[in-house]
Amino acid sequence: MAGCVFCKIVAGEIPAAKLVEAESVTSFLDVNPVNLGHALIVPKRHLMSLLDLTDEELQAAILVARRVAAAVRGATGSSAFNILQNDGRAAGQVVEHVHFHVIPRHHSDGFAFGWRQLSYKEGELSALLQAIKKRL
Ligand code: AMP
Ligand code: ZN
Repeated sequence: MAGCVFCKIVAGEIPAAKLVEAESVTSFLDVNPVNLGHALIVPKRHLMSLLDLTDEELQAAILVARRVAAAVRGATGSSAFNILQNDGRAAGQVVEHVHFHVIPRHHSDGFAFGWRQLSYKEGELSALLQAIKKRL
């Protein structure tokens, strides 16, 4: 898709530090890493959401993510990693071409999610549980 930075990388029109090149997925280092070795896993088709991927594309992407995570962990000497996917602008997605982040983590590396934890009000949990289950 014209104007999409990841499509340009897939097409070889702009450079990237490539890690893996497979039939439906590519992987390269993030140019502005959270921690050094931060990698991206990018299905080649221009789709915005994980929900748009075929089962085969999703399977290929998560298998490459696992392979890259193991290699990044080994190469950076990190003891841990996060695999993240921002799906939609409200979730922090900036590049509108579906991708996974593999971020190597170290103790006290200064990267905090600020994860909050809400509580359900009376009846909310069961209503939402039913609403979600109906759609599965
Ligand atoms: P997201 O917020 O999930 O859409 O993340 C997009 C990521 O793509 C960011 O971490 C950027 O640093 C990264 N990024 C953007 N352009 C490039 C590029 N040309 N090469 C490598 N990574 C990129
Ligand atoms: Zn694209």
